[in-house]
This record gives sequence, structure tokens and C-alpha cells, in this order.
Amino acid sequence: MTTLSREQWESLFQNLTIEGRAFIDGQYCTAVSAETFESLSPVDGRHLANVASCDAADAERAVLAARRSFESGAWSGLAPAERKRVLIAFADLLQGNAEELALLETLDMGKPISDSLSIDVPGAANAIRWSAEAIDKVYDEVAPTPADQLGLVTREAVGVVAAIVPWNFPLMMACWKLGPALATGNSVILKPSEKSPLTAIRIAQLAIEAGIPAGVLNVLPGYGHTVGKALALHMDVDTLVFTGSTRIAKQLMIYAGESNMKRVWLEAGGKSPNIVFADAPDLQAAADAAACAIAFNQGEVCVAGSRLLVERSIKDRFLPMVIEALKAWKPGHSLDPTTRVGALVDGTQLDTVLGYVQAGAAEGATLVAGGKRVLEETGGVYVEPTIFDGVDNAMRIAREEIFGPVLSVIAFDTAEEAISIANDSPFGLAAAVWSSDLSKAHRTAKALRAGSVWVNQYDGGDMTAPFGGFKQSGNGRDKSLHAFDKYTELKATWIKL
Ligand code: NAD
Repeated sequence: MTTLSREQWESLFQNLTIEGRAFIDGQYCTAVSAETFESLSPVDGRHLANVASCDAADAERAVLAARRSFESGAWSGLAPAERKRVLIAFADLLQGNAEELALLETLDMGKPISDSLSIDVPGAANAIRWSAEAIDKVYDEVAPTPADQLGLVTREAVGVVAAIVPWNFPLMMACWKLGPALATGNSVILKPSEKSPLTAIRIAQLAIEAGIPAGVLNVLPGYGHTVGKALALHMDVDTLVFTGSTRIAKQLMIYAGESNMKRVWLEAGGKSPNIVFADAPDLQAAADAAACAIAFNQGEVCVAGSRLLVERSIKDRFLPMVIEALKAWKPGHSLDPTTRVGALVDGTQLDTVLGYVQAGAAEGATLVAGGKRVLEETGGVYVEPTIFDGVDNAMRIAREEIFGPVLSVIAFDTAEEAISIANDSPFGLAAAVWSSDLSKAHRTAKALRAGSVWVNQYDGGDMTAPFGGFKQSGNGRDKSLHAFDKYTELKATWIKL
């Protein structure tokens, strides 16, 4: 899709009415408390909307609406082929409103407008479409029973799903949940991040237009410690699906234990190693990929390649190539269609990133690129992609998820050492290996404790393969048919013949 000019995006903004209310039982509504919070754009500080600040009272209303719609069978009782038809119409409406959704996404969380338009909106629509197209092609099972028994193994919708999502890919993360949740017949309450709620609020209306019945998709904007917590503690939420930080993921497990033992599925943080062996097939491709892996989406990516492990014999040759490749990732105004690195999500995230830059220097790593706030005159929150050389895997910049464009370069001598450093992390979301030795690449990929491993590329994948983490990067998987496991209960029915 060709993007508009910056002036055209601005004029689209002038004509936009931004909705900030919650969406419950098929209608926009203010929070019961009537409280709102102001949404300001990190792109340049402009006012976007006053957003409903939902709390436990709104969670109560939304869970009631979701339960009622689920029990009515208006959605849960439809034939899978019928849900497919409606969800494909929903995906078409997402794509049909791509410019508006892309503009909202960029202004709300800062990412480049070209990415919102070419990656986030199509990715979100595709996630809905993929689950929809699959749902009337999956079969249940008949158990291999003795002749006097018929054993049916069936999957049933869990019921009321609460989906709590982060701010880095607001629309796409929401749709990774909504696709399989809705396709399998559940009713959903979506809780977007307080930092980027606008596209979630907008698509609720599109869902109704597509024919999804009232109450089946509800959207509650607000803070995590208020409405998020209320959903996680609610006795009538059957399943909680989450994408966000490991810290909050752990808290949600506690809430589930303190309430109704709801199923909890967590997609959490990462600190992914990108291992470049001396025999990488194409060092330039590896350097370009290493730059992209840390700078794309301002480094606010769960699978950011934030630890670059380089074989010592090529490090002096390879690192300058990465520094050079990173020059193509200069921050620019997020609404400029040529921009590849936009604004960070807010000033708090800027402080976090700059705090880690200070910590890296204090711990003895060498700053070799970036490290400063830029474009302050825009009123926005921009930071240069940053590289630290001479990093030890014990340093904070190698252990903690920064969630910004800060790369830690670590040297290694042998494959065993690379694997050991890569796995020495509380996280296990993703990893990459670059080598032209097929056996070495395969052995290394197998030894890496991560949910996704890429060989001679970084961040490949589509809806056909599961996505999620080992260790403290989470449990369960988004995408692919495996995602349906989170939204269904397995039932065994024994019929005596
Ligand atoms: P976060 O954990 O701070 O917030 C995520 C969501 O949880 C938000 O909607 C927030 O309001 C809500 N929340 C916060 N406190 C809560 C509470 N006490 N109870 C209920 N809900 C609460 O994460 P974030 O800063 O929005 O997102 C960044 C994180 O997301 C990073 O750690 C990143 O790695 C992770 N992430 C993971 C994946 C993945 O697929 N594994 C994908 C994208 C992002």
C-alpha cells in the first residue's frame, strides 16, 4: 500500500474524530466513574483524546455483557463456517480502514507511519483472517476405544476471555488474541494498554459493523492496576490471555490463584541472543539484520535482537559493519513516510532507555554508537539507536529487557560458549544463528532454549507457526492452530454402546 505524504496524514488527522470511550455490549459508553485520562502523542506532544479510565465497576458490566452473549449462543452457537464469514468481513473492515487505523496507531504510540500502514494493520487483519479461515477446517477426535464404547474428544469454547495487551504493537497483539478467541466462539473483553488504547477502541465499532453480535467484543481502556487487575481477579472470567512484561505476567498468575483459578496464558518479555559465527554465509546480511533487530519499532519489540553474540575472530571486522548499517536507522518524525525509527512510546520509556545507557557506561561497557535523545524540538520523544561493545553477559544491559534501541555486543570463542551465554538469561523468547555449516547451525538452534529460533535471518515467521516463549518469556503460544488451545477446553465424552 502506498503511503500518504506527511501533509496528507496531517489533513487526515484534522478530519478525524477520535473515540476515547469504552465499548460494552455493543455501545460506546463513559466509565461508570466518568473518569478519563488524557492521551498525548509521543510523536510531538499533541492532544489526541480523553480516554475512559475504566475500573472494577466497568469490568463488572463488561463481564456481565460477555457472559450474557456467550450463554445466548448468538455467537458461540453459530456454525464455524458462519463465524468464519463474519470474521473475514471484520478483517476486510480492518484493511478497508487501514489509513485511519495506521494514523491512530502511529500518533498513539510513536511508531513510523509506514510501518503502521504496511506491517501493523495488515498483520492485524491477517491474524483475524487466518483464524477465521481455519476454524471450519479443524476436526475433533474419536478415541481408539473398545467396541462397546464411543469416546469423543471435543474442544469447546472456554467462555469469557479477558485479553490484556501491551503498547508496542497494540492492534496486532490484540488481533493475535481476538482471531482465535472469537473464531472458537468465545466472548472477549479486550483491555488495551493505557499508553495506546485508540485502535482497540476503534475496532470495536468495526466488529459490530462486520456482524459480531453485541457483547461478544468489549473494550475497556484504563490502567493495569485498576481495570486490568479487576479483570484478572474476576470470578466470572474463564481465561486470561496476556502479552506484556514478565513482571506483570507473574502478578497475573497470583491473581488467578487468588480468585477462580482462571486459565492464564502469558506472552512476556525477552532478551534475545543473535549469534554470528565467523562462517556466516553473508556478513553484510547479518550486519543489516543485526541493525534492524535492534532498531525496528524503536527497539520496542519483545523479540528485539538485543544481545549480539559475535565470534571473536571476526568481531573487529563485523562490528563496524553493524555500526554502518545502523546509520540507515536514524530517528525521524513518525508521520514522515520515509522515517524508519519513530518516537518512543512516552517520556517514561525515554527515561528508562537513557537510564540503561548510563548503566551500561557505569558498568564498563563501551558506547560505540548513539546514546542520546534527539529531535527534542519536535516536542516528541526520540532517541538514537545505541550500541555498547565489550559487554559482559552479567551486566544489567545484557540481563534486563530495556525495550528500547540499545544493543549489547558480546564476544565468544566457541559454539559451546555462545550457547552457554545465549541460554544464560531468565528469558527464552527468540534467538538467531548465522553459520554456513548446516550441522553447526542445526546443533546450535536445537541447544537454544527459546520459542523461536531463526537461522541465517532474524525475525522470520507468519501465522503458520506458533509464537511464544520458554522460561520467563511465558507459556502457551499465539498464532497457528496451537493458539486455539488457549481458547478451548478439551472434553472427553464416553458413550456406552
Ligand atoms: P506491561 O506488562 O507493563 O503491561 C501490559 C498490559 O498489562 C497493559 O495493558 C497494562 O495496563 C496491563 N497491566 C499492568 N499492570 C497490571 C495489573 N496489575 N493487572 C492487570 N493488568 C496490568 O507491558 P508493556 O510495557 O505494555 O509492554 C511491554 C512488554 O510486553 C515487554 O516486556 C515485551 O517484551 C512484552 N511483549 C511480549 C510479546 C510476546 O509475544 N511475548 C509481544 C509484545 C510485547
